Amino acid sequence: MPTCPTCHSKVSEPLRTWPIVEPQKNGEIVDFTVGIYWCTKCNANFPFVVGRRGLKLIETDKLEELHDKIKAVDKVKQELMKKVDRLEQEKAMVEESLVLARLEDRAENLKVEISLLKEVKRELESMIKYLEHAPSLKVATSEQKSINRSV
Ligand SMILES: [Zn+2]
Repeated sequence: MPTCPTCHSKVSEPLRTWPIVEPQKNGEIVDFTVGIYWCTKCNANFPFVVGRRGLKLIETDKLEELHDKIKAVDKVKQELMKKVDRLEQEKAMVEESLVLARLEDRAENLKVEISLLKEVKRELESMIKYLEHAPSLKVATSEQKSINRSV
């Protein structure tokens, strides 16, 4: 926002604006927008450059050539973006199938583990049965003959 050069208060709205087009020494053309501002505090009028942009003169043929180049580059960019999209979809699919494969692996391992555990369980059950029905396991304590070796 421009400030008044006299009292330094800010002035928001210009009284009017107009464009100025000015060729520069380097071949560039500068397009200014100048505004006239009126300070309500000290009643001063002052000009202020609102906008400024550099322009360049260019042959129409060259400009069209540039447009064509931009179009071609844009086409390549769109094709690349499509490719990226496709690759991302493929990646997602591969990741999904990897997860599935890992789960299948785990399921297979679990199956093996379960069958092993079942076998262990069966063995334990038969052992328990045997222990329950076996004749008393009391070891007949035979009278120990005391062997007193007296010399
Ligand atoms: Zn002022």
